[in-house]
Amino acid sequence: MTDGDGDAAVQEPRRPALSPSRAGDFKMCPLLYRFRAIDKLPERPGRAQVRGTLVHTVLERLFDLPAPQRSPAAAAALVEPVWQELIATLPELVDGLFAGSDDPELAEWLASVAPLLATYFRLEDPRDVEPVARELLLETELESGVVLRGYVDRLDEGPAGLRVIDYKTGAAPRPIGELRALFQLKFYALALLQDRGVVPDELRLYYLADGETLTYRPDEPELRRFTRILDALWVAIREAGRTGDFRPSPSRMCDYCDHRALCPAWGGTPPPYPGWPVAPDADEPVILAS
Ligand code: SF4
Repeated sequence: MTDGDGDAAVQEPRRPALSPSRAGDFKMCPLLYRFRAIDKLPERPGRAQVRGTLVHTVLERLFDLPAPQRSPAAAAALVEPVWQELIATLPELVDGLFAGSDDPELAEWLASVAPLLATYFRLEDPRDVEPVARELLLETELESGVVLRGYVDRLDEGPAGLRVIDYKTGAAPRPIGELRALFQLKFYALALLQDRGVVPDELRLYYLADGETLTYRPDEPELRRFTRILDALWVAIREAGRTGDFRPSPSRMCDYCDHRALCPAWGGTPPPYPGWPVAPDADEPVILAS
């Protein structure tokens, strides 16, 4: 599923890696990182997150159609079948969100997808776009050995060069959130530079709730400096993993944290530290990208 940051969850154990979401978690609250990446405590996606997954899937499928057929009506027609597919393939995702298929709130919620799709069509005309990849897994290794892993919603290549597009179903962030969004874009740009040897010309976020966009045009020296930031972050994560010292860092994000009842900052007690997970064929920790 695609989370609020637009990254798709990956559940199979793989090489240790750093993803934009988990890097952001550690920077915001090391204990939240521990709960998600090491304890792997379950989280129940809310209606907004599931709507994000639905919209991302509809937009991905839209590009299955020949360019002339990528109309607003075609996108709208995809909503119901994609929803039925999600129910069938990921029942745990939607379990408990609604009382049943005749829940009146379900119809209202499904209808709330339409304005997001309408905003998308105001931001670009998909008939003019021919993506070279959708839901693209980027995985690359820095010289320091840190593996970067993440998904981009779309990669376009054309006269304007190489462009990354990521959809956000929320509104454009305020300045602090914007830094987090830029971190994600730099992460993708660096991963593409490492993987393909080219600096992408542009990375763009589409905020479908308010029609805003965030555009980043990277340059190589900046990305090389960013490499050092990720290296330092990974050193900090590994050190915390070795000692188990993941401290809570309370903020307004605690209001949205699924693990507040276990958090010492709110009077809770975390479960015993399970230790740094180890890959079957490596002496490194396994960090699941998401
Ligand atoms: S409740 Fe707040 S401080 Fe505690 S783990 Fe969650 S985000 Fe961190």
